[in-house]
Amino acid sequence: MFLFPGFINTHIHIFQSFLKGLGADHRLIEWLNLSALPYGKVMTPRQHELAARLACMEALKSGCTTLCEFFYTNQDPELAHACIEGMQSTGIRSVFIRTFQDTGEEYGMPSAFIEPAEKAMREVEKLRKRYREDGMLSVWTGPDVTWSTTADGYRTMLEYCLGENVRYSMHLKETEVDHEMSLRAGVNVALGTDGAASNNSTDMLETMKLAALIQKGFHRDASVMAADQVIRMATCGGAKAIGTEKETGTLETGKKADMILFDPQHLKSFPDHDAEATVVYASSEENIDTTIVNGKVVYHKGAFASGLSEKELIRECSEEVEKMRKQI
Ligand SMILES: [Zn+2]
Repeated sequence: MFLFPGFINTHIHIFQSFLKGLGADHRLIEWLNLSALPYGKVMTPRQHELAARLACMEALKSGCTTLCEFFYTNQDPELAHACIEGMQSTGIRSVFIRTFQDTGEEYGMPSAFIEPAEKAMREVEKLRKRYREDGMLSVWTGPDVTWSTTADGYRTMLEYCLGENVRYSMHLKETEVDHEMSLRAGVNVALGTDGAASNNSTDMLETMKLAALIQKGFHRDASVMAADQVIRMATCGGAKAIGTEKETGTLETGKKADMILFDPQHLKSFPDHDAEATVVYASSEENIDTTIVNGKVVYHKGAFASGLSEKELIRECSEEVEKMRKQI
């Protein structure tokens, strides 16, 4: 087998794991109004918790060891707790990014999501106190998108982050395929699956392959992105983006043991002349034999160490998904 550092998914919206296929094939604003926003407005804490398990188990099964949840359905603090507790129950390392929106109703942002930045920072502070940094979970903040953030709100958040040494993340340039200038400037690039309402999965292997193929197609040049570059984005690039490069992202003495065993003995991936090309271009979940987070085996040959069963979880989620659909 191949031993690799675990993949780092730097951007996901967990609640969307309940929305796969809703609003498919629409442009961003139409899609938001058909899918993420109306459903995000009605989901319960129980549904958030189940969606978190669904997303994290799928992530672990595709070799991901760290996941950064960009959380923006903020109308009830219980939703954040449910999401965090759902993530923690699976054994994945995570960053919980409690974002805010302080404008944007004219573009379809539900009024229930809009709050003053000062209130949002108080909620972030409460979460940071309740879930103290233990290396397995960090709490950050961030403005959701430019059109849902006022300049004053942004300043308030920035002052809080600088004062408390808290990191932040935000959506930028979502509708541009690429930005050649910033790539040429040597900007660190990491990968994220984004929410499953737009992706429609939380599979880092699939995301790695797409990251390479989209650039090759866009630039009409197969040499523009190589397999080893993509693996670096999904591992050490991710670690650098979230500030954990001294602890994760590579396999080195003294770092956290976040790693995967990749079994190339499957029809899709055989023969494995080049390990990196095999992982990026010829792999699927079935190749992930074992996922180890913080030295613990959390996934091995189809079984999750948390004791959570894939079939049972799907059964539980089905009932809640049906309730959510009926409500909308
Ligand atoms: Zn996103």
